[in-house]
Amino acid sequence: MVIDKINAANKEIESPNLLKSTQIIIDEALTKLGYPKEVFELLKEPIRMLTVRIPVRMDDDSIKVFTGYRAQHNDAIGPTKGGIRFHPEITQDEVKALSIWMSLKAGIVDLPYGGGKGGIVCDPRVMSIRELERLSRGYVRAISQIVGPTKDIPAPDVFTNSQIMSWMMDEYSRIREFDSPGFITGKPIVLGGSQGRESSTAKGVVICIEEAAKKRGITIQGAKIAIQGFGNAGSYLAKFLYDSGAKIVGISDAYGALYDENGLDIPYLLDKRDSFGVVTKHFKNTITNKELLVLPCDILVPAAISNQITKENANQIKAKIIVEAANGPTTLEANNILTQKGILLVPDVLASAGGVTVSYFEWVQNNLGYYWSEKEVSEKLHKVMTEAFENVYSTAIKQNVNMRLAGYMIGVRKIAEASRFRGWI
Ligand code: NAD
Repeated sequence: MVIDKINAANKEIESPNLLKSTQIIIDEALTKLGYPKEVFELLKEPIRMLTVRIPVRMDDDSIKVFTGYRAQHNDAIGPTKGGIRFHPEITQDEVKALSIWMSLKAGIVDLPYGGGKGGIVCDPRVMSIRELERLSRGYVRAISQIVGPTKDIPAPDVFTNSQIMSWMMDEYSRIREFDSPGFITGKPIVLGGSQGRESSTAKGVVICIEEAAKKRGITIQGAKIAIQGFGNAGSYLAKFLYDSGAKIVGISDAYGALYDENGLDIPYLLDKRDSFGVVTKHFKNTITNKELLVLPCDILVPAAISNQITKENANQIKAKIIVEAANGPTTLEANNILTQKGILLVPDVLASAGGVTVSYFEWVQNNLGYYWSEKEVSEKLHKVMTEAFENVYSTAIKQNVNMRLAGYMIGVRKIAEASRFRGWI
């Protein structure tokens, strides 16, 4: 029942069309770069979108048919790459928008990929482990024609994990009749996963927070930080920032938020959270997610779901810096309000690119058959993220635009150039 309520709320929140607002910024970026309209016509939608129906035998012996999607935005630069989301509310338009964001992220951190994304309409929280395995294998059989280590490389996303990646890799290897670790990333280390993959998104966000803080003269030690979401991204983030001496004054999950102006006891909260990133249920003195977003703090990190900062609350935000760990947490109107207020906003397409960067490292290691230490992965990630931050930041200043538009300009230019050299436009 509670899950139903959260899903209904999430649906309402996510309803402003993510695809449309992405297309508006892509159009703006291409116009600013001087590209003709046909470039927008090519890039506004994925070049390939597959919808599949997956019959799964459930534990009670009934057959349930699930709907799945795989979107490939643009493969001019190289194979497409992006996660697979299991969610009851996932829609075709959302998968399309997410695939476009993956293209932009890959462009910003300079990876030899285009963007891809997958989704299955299902609720893994009410499915057994065997049902999830059959669904995962069924999905791979259904999309196997268009994916592969040199075509389109999936990865985990919301409600999918390294176990699901393992089943998918095994199914693909069986279909192709050879071991294919490079088919999918986010695998366990023993199956060719990379050191540092699980915490890579949060590490990338921390690097962006550090760089943004330097620009605004804020020291991380003692800085007041509020984080929305305590899942994979949010919980690692809270840990890394707490370890660096920051005061994590607020955290939240789907059920509410916790606030302490003197800083929360993050190790204790990490110990209490469940595998779905829920912790506030153990406490009585909670505040709402809405209240968390407008708390007095130096840095705000949305790390949960989309469309959280809107024209309704943007004016009340007190943070000096916002770093988007989540995909699409800020609406177009809110982005403009925050820019006018002089808040430094580090956009999702840059801030959350640490995950795809280490996924790329995993794929490279699989292709080489030679594996790097956690230190090597961490150093390489640091170099990629700091260079990407500086590139987006300086482009924003040079072009007199906000960091989101600057990021889109960098990301979209690469795909447009590759498409042009191939003679597509
Ligand atoms: P997750 O499922 O592990 O955690 C999500 C967190 O958000 C949980 O704490 C959950 O309780 C909370 N939440 C759910 N609904 C909420 C609501 N209505 N209000 C407030 N909180 C709510 O997911 P994650 O992997 O941490 O991803 C979080 C965000 O970061 C997503 O937007 C995802 O697309 C993005 N992201 C994640 C990665 C990654 O590698 N994990 C990479 C890039 C982007």
